[in-house]
Amino acid sequence: MRILLIEDNSDFAALLAEGLAKRNISVEHASSLLEAASFFANNAYDVIILDLGLPDGDGIEWLGKLRPDRPPVLILTARGALAERVLGLDTGADDYLVKPAEIEEIAARIRAMTRRPGVRDAVVLDAGGLSLDTVSRHVAFDGAPISLGRKETDFLELLLRRAGKVVPREAIEAVLYGLDEPVTPNALEALASRVRRRLSEVGATDMLHTVRGVGYFIGGNKA
Ligand code: CA
Repeated sequence: MRILLIEDNSDFAALLAEGLAKRNISVEHASSLLEAASFFANNAYDVIILDLGLPDGDGIEWLGKLRPDRPPVLILTARGALAERVLGLDTGADDYLVKPAEIEEIAARIRAMTRRPGVRDAVVLDAGGLSLDTVSRHVAFDGAPISLGRKETDFLELLLRRAGKVVPREAIEAVLYGLDEPVTPNALEALASRVRRRLSEVGATDMLHTVRGVGYFIGGNKA
């Protein structure tokens, strides 16, 4: 599971990211609304955790402008007055927690939000017979299991979430390789060709496409 954490207190963000990582929730951290908007435009998330007092604006206003097909939002803020909680939920937050909050509870709320029916993200992503279970991480083609490494699976998940659309290579690299992880120019090509080989082993020969210099997409026919 991957979440976007929008929080300007970097100590708290680091602590929270570490605690959630231990519970198999990977966190990308944006410290301003501007940064969040750019992360959000290029990546898919299961949940957004939103602080309200941010250096470049108010989280409530940002929330009000998000598209309806956004992932569920958990507001995590020091603002705990009844009127503030009501405003947050009325603006569209799916849940609201007041700081200080225990990591255990934050993780439980995240799990609850992604379990709810009507959550926009399907648990099993599917395109042309190629499927990926976002929780178990199982990948299959027409029912035949495909064994992939963690990065390869994350790569496929990114593409399946936007099946048929080109996902820019910069966006893929930002997700697959951490900020302090050096990325060689052809690391992504090598990863893509490993995935393509695995797919072709089970007959998915025309699924993973490269748009040279731009990015990758999943699509095409099973034939
Ligand atoms: Ca803040």
